Amino acid sequence: MTDAVLTRLAGLFGELLPADAVITDPVRLRTYDCDGLTYHRATPGIVVLPDTAEQIAAVVRLCDEYGVPFVARGSGTGLSGGALPRTDGVLIVTSRMRRILEIDLQNRRAVVEPGVTNLAITEAVRDQGYYYAPDPSSQQICSIGGNVAENSGGAHCLKYGFTVNHILGLEIVTPDGEIVELSADDPGYDLLGAFIGSEGTLGIATKITVRLSRMPEAVTTLLAAFTGIEAGGQAVSAIIAAGIVPAAIEMMDALAIEAAEAAVNCAYPQGAGAVLIVELDGPHAEVGHQFAEVERICRESGAFEIRVAASAEERAAIWKGRKSAFAAVGRISPAYIVQDGVVPRTALPEVLAGIDRLQEEYGIRVANVFHAGDGNLHPLVLFDDAVPGQGERAEAVSGRILDLCIEHGGSITGEHGVGVDKSRYMPKMFTEEDLDTMQLVRCAFDPRGLSNPGKVFPTPRLCGEVPGVRKGVHPLVESGRAEQF
Ligand SMILES: Cc1cc2nc3c(=O)[nH]c(=O)nc-3n(C[C@H](O)[C@H](O)[C@H](O)COP(=O)(O)OP(=O)(O)OC[C@H]3O[C@@H](n4cnc5c(N)ncnc54)[C@H](O)[C@@H]3O)c2cc1C
Repeated sequence: MTDAVLTRLAGLFGELLPADAVITDPVRLRTYDCDGLTYHRATPGIVVLPDTAEQIAAVVRLCDEYGVPFVARGSGTGLSGGALPRTDGVLIVTSRMRRILEIDLQNRRAVVEPGVTNLAITEAVRDQGYYYAPDPSSQQICSIGGNVAENSGGAHCLKYGFTVNHILGLEIVTPDGEIVELSADDPGYDLLGAFIGSEGTLGIATKITVRLSRMPEAVTTLLAAFTGIEAGGQAVSAIIAAGIVPAAIEMMDALAIEAAEAAVNCAYPQGAGAVLIVELDGPHAEVGHQFAEVERICRESGAFEIRVAASAEERAAIWKGRKSAFAAVGRISPAYIVQDGVVPRTALPEVLAGIDRLQEEYGIRVANVFHAGDGNLHPLVLFDDAVPGQGERAEAVSGRILDLCIEHGGSITGEHGVGVDKSRYMPKMFTEEDLDTMQLVRCAFDPRGLSNPGKVFPTPRLCGEVPGVRKGVHPLVESGRAEQF
């Protein structure tokens, strides 16, 4: 893509959008050169900050006309490089689209713009006794558009399901610039389901209808401290085996606790080698009964201290350490990689033991934080980027952890997406034929491959190509429009 084309496009965007909504100044462009995964960086060719779906559609139509790739960006908190811009492309940022358009409590739904933050939805309906259930730890800042693209999860997704279970409809701009509605009620193929989790590769969500849930009658939160992670894991298995589905069941190991103490002084029990946070919600009678059972199981599994939150403040205090865990690790290590893998719950002890062995083998520390109930691990691989070779060793450990997840019947991502970072691992999970079949879906939405190219798939193909092992360099790679790993 030539600079002349980008300059021409910037001029055309200037006719469509307010003057301050088109950024071409090289210094300001650098603000957007990465998402939460700072390891991958690229300065976008142009950044636009539209106010409306019509503006997004007009920008996308021009990208289509000029054959220029575009990438959507919400709040940029993604951890897989999904919103990594293209130097030869346009970054479409939704942060000015923060209006809550409609709240319909009778039908338990709200219609919002894509830049609205996850937590803002709950804040808008909390006083009426409702909330939006999926709760990524980044919920104060991440956008609902980003949540849709990543099919984001959170601590409470064990009981309530992921983003896909809470989206009732979308308005999207297709990669050729058409505005289209997708609804959960549409007959035929589940196009809404296909779009959710597509990581920006099928178009841009411009309006989102979310399901609102009723606040539970009762909530009980407890924190159980164990001397080691194995005992905590045993408690998790026993709770689920007892037929209890907690709203959340989260675990942190000793190193993660150390980091949280250093950052937010969460005052978890002294000497804990692992803490388990269990939250139960529902009708009073059910929660009371289940709570007694969970407390018994934790004690029998070896918990040496159990704290129960008696108020909303005490609940927040218990959650404080867990919710801040990713950032907290910055207190005990100059740099770290947030990994995201998932394994069957029953494989957790073996995989954690495998991670221990990797720490020894590579001389790299790993802090473990995880959504224990659904086997979603977030190992935080610590390193010092000032020490030559440590970054590479940390990368190697991070990759070997994903190998462990695959070997144990799990997956390379539980909730953070594939993005640019994990596209190279896709062939470890899927055959060429699987990947080609997935690309057919992509081609149905985006035949020219302009919507967030270079993400998710390791080997981009043009639509209409015969599946099979590629011989030679792909034309998209040759033309610089896609990267090959
Ligand atoms: C401290 C921290 C904690 C986190 N905790 C969790 C967690 O508990 N659970 C979890 O699942 N994730 C978590 N994340 C990851 C991240 O917050 C989520 O993936 C979130 O959904 C990203 O939203 P965003 O607005 O920042 O998206 P961005 O990072 O801007 O973009 C993410 C992807 O979505 C695409 N995209 C953005 N907007 C749109 C749109 N309108 N239409 C189409 N595509 C779009 C982008 O192209 C990109 O591929 C965490 C991140 C951090 C930094």
